[in-house]
Amino acid sequence: MAGFHIEHFGCRAARADGEAIAASLLAWGQHCVPQSPDADVVIVNTCSVTAEADRAARAFIRRAHRRNPEAKIVVTGCYAQRAPQELVQMSGVSAVVGNSHKALAPEIILDLTQPPGEPAQPHAELAQPPAADIIPVSSLLAPSSESGARVWVDDRFAHSFLEEAQIVPGAQTRPNLKIQEGCTNRCAFCVIPQTRGSSRSLPRAAVLRHVEDFVAAGGNELVLSGINLGSWGRDLPERSSFASLVREILERTRLPRLRLSSIEPMDWDDELIGLMSEFAAAPLSSSRPRSHLARHAHLPLQSGSDAILRRMHRRYRPWHYAEKVAALQRAAGPELTLGADVMAGFPGETDAEFGETLAFIRALPFGYLHLFPFSPRPGTRGFTLHAERPVPAAAVDERMAELRALAAEKTRTHRSRFIVQELEAITLNTPMALAAQGKTSALTDNFLPLEIHSRLDANRPLRVRITGLDPEGDLVGCAVA
Ligand code: SF4
Repeated sequence: MAGFHIEHFGCRAARADGEAIAASLLAWGQHCVPQSPDADVVIVNTCSVTAEADRAARAFIRRAHRRNPEAKIVVTGCYAQRAPQELVQMSGVSAVVGNSHKALAPEIILDLTQPPGEPAQPHAELAQPPAADIIPVSSLLAPSSESGARVWVDDRFAHSFLEEAQIVPGAQTRPNLKIQEGCTNRCAFCVIPQTRGSSRSLPRAAVLRHVEDFVAAGGNELVLSGINLGSWGRDLPERSSFASLVREILERTRLPRLRLSSIEPMDWDDELIGLMSEFAAAPLSSSRPRSHLARHAHLPLQSGSDAILRRMHRRYRPWHYAEKVAALQRAAGPELTLGADVMAGFPGETDAEFGETLAFIRALPFGYLHLFPFSPRPGTRGFTLHAERPVPAAAVDERMAELRALAAEKTRTHRSRFIVQELEAITLNTPMALAAQGKTSALTDNFLPLEIHSRLDANRPLRVRITGLDPEGDLVGCAVA
């Protein structure tokens, strides 16, 4: 293979899947190229959380094929799992690998690039891929196409955990370690249980080994991620708690900073919140390094209306959410950055119910919000509800605009609180345009992105002083000696 390009869509957990596929291909001596027209294999790691996500993936596939008709396109991820029949018919697509088979994706990709009858020839000193002839595999939910494109999708999710790839600081300074897959909840709007199956956990020993390997490779910050991260451990024979795993990482490994990605409100139990107060303060740039937990909590909210949360089949009420936030603030202190996902236009959402969401958000100290319009996904309860009581598109647009304005105001207020303060941070891979101005991108432990007025390499822990907000609302600062 001359080179592969991987294009990611979707959440951090989905990105972790794509990074694991890329890491396996790199370990087998393949080259990653930054632009799709230069690649002979283009891997499209899709999301299917909204109709818009599907559209974006299809548009990318069309563009990639137009720019390089010779390239083989391999589509994987949630869209590949949900609707392989739509993707396999697209021009240029050579293979569709659903989440059920994504652990086999590297081998499938390698096999695709070999002339017929010739096994893959990895570089002698590199890790050996498993024999390419382990494919094709198992039952298919969609027939392969007339063009010969092949489909690997079923509904058993037996090959769905990408746990072998080593996590190293590289293209991503703060990579994701995905330790949990799938979801056993049934939120009415969500297609994930169909596209990723029930909740499964990476065993404790494998998680700890990955963390130690990351530290040994020079990593400073690791993000624990999963589709429903807080449910980690419930499916393991010993029924471990997620908090017990986090404690073990913080106490037994030498990882300088651990960050938790999105955790459902009710999974922030007392034990986990207690860890936030126990481990949140140690500075990364201290002369006596000790593991610490980033002062950052992302709790999906979706709606601030009790009635809407009930209709969504969410497992908490607005007051539960507010209690968790108050406890987290007490534990992590005033530097905590709180984030949430919020949805506008769930079927039947009235103006009054949406007003409750706005009021709820105004009352809490959010540092940022991820906003989504409701999107009916076939096969979900929300799809049926949408057919019965859709919210008009114009109302959804209006509500999204109100939420965007509120989110911008909350972000600006939160960031402004830190001007003249000193915080712990880590330098990131700086975009070329910014580097050309002699600046460096960084991220504080409490999840504030900022620009530093000096050129520094990526993956460097440092203390920064926040000096102001630029006109775009981004924080600027300087390294503290
Ligand atoms: S908790 Fe709900 S929204 Fe989140 S992945 Fe599970 S079903 Fe989807």
